Amino acid sequence: MLITHDTRCALDAVVDLLNTAPEGEAPGAPDSLTDLSALQDFVRRNDVSGVGALAANDLAAVRTVRARFAQVFAAGDDRAAAEQLNALVASAGTTPQLTDHDGYDWHVHYFAPDASVADHLAADGGMALAFIVVAGERERLRRCEAPDCRHAFVDLSRNRSRRYCDSRTCGNRLHVAAYRARRREAAG
Ligand SMILES: [Zn+2]
Ligand SMILES: [Zn+2]
Repeated sequence: MLITHDTRCALDAVVDLLNTAPEGEAPGAPDSLTDLSALQDFVRRNDVSGVGALAANDLAAVRTVRARFAQVFAAGDDRAAAEQLNALVASAGTTPQLTDHDGYDWHVHYFAPDASVADHLAADGGMALAFIVVAGERERLRRCEAPDCRHAFVDLSRNRSRRYCDSRTCGNRLHVAAYRARRREAAG
């Protein structure tokens, strides 16, 4: 599957946003996107361009977009995902613009020039997810199978075989637990 650089960056931002509130953890589990400085950090580390001063309503709006991305990841089929993505992208008021800013090669920005940070994420992240659906690759939008993790990730492996957000920690941890359980059974 060919993924252009800007689509990859948009997908990384979607995953990073989702993982500020990993799903399936105990109620009251840490949500790391609860104040403006956390949102500022998110914007900085994902290099979200063209975002001005942030206000409290930006935080609320980004949290809403996060919940909508989570619905896309949880969609049972392409049609459900498409309906959610169409609504999300429409609400963000996309305005595709070719650009080669800051030394990057030509790519398309989907967010409107004066978009809020939430609309920016909804437009570019929504379109990146739409391309995944168009490519017939929606199943690559995954949650880590480690039951106490459930972090979101996009499986970019050749054969779509990735089960854990990070196989060195989550995958390994489960293998060790399964090994210990087998040992206990053998010993019992
Ligand atoms: Zn750009
Ligand atoms: Zn994990």
